[in-house]
Amino acid sequence: MTLDKSEADCLFCKFSSGEIATDIVYQSEHVMAFRDINPQAPTHVLIIPRRHIATINDLDEPGAADIGRLFLAAKEIATQEGFAGEGYRVTMNCNAAAGQTVFHIHLHLLGGRQFGWPPG
Ligand code: AMP
Ligand code: ZN
Repeated sequence: MTLDKSEADCLFCKFSSGEIATDIVYQSEHVMAFRDINPQAPTHVLIIPRRHIATINDLDEPGAADIGRLFLAAKEIATQEGFAGEGYRVTMNCNAAAGQTVFHIHLHLLGGRQFGWPPG
């Protein structure tokens, strides 16, 4: 299977533009967040930069600001969802060995249960 890493046919770019509807939980000029279709915890939200960046390996210096904003959104959503104090997990997968399946970077925000370490 060839995985498309381009912006042209990117599902998460279509969520960001509004071309495809999704369950949005947070929006700002540079970032948006929506609920994962296959949740791995009581709350499982994906936080993305609006700008298309395929993988962590494609990050550039301006992308550093986007990454910071993903974490600011994670903190805000964790507070909204009520588990900021209790604790939560944020994860970003890069390429095949880590199981990345959508090639527009996204921070997984998982909360509402206890997490093990090391992760699988
Ligand atoms: P990753 O494996 O890190 O690339 O994560 C991709 C995530 O996107 C998975 O957790 C999927 O469940 C999620 N996902 C795939 N398609 C959709 C969709 N249409 N709406 C919401 N989440 C999705
Ligand atoms: Zn994209």
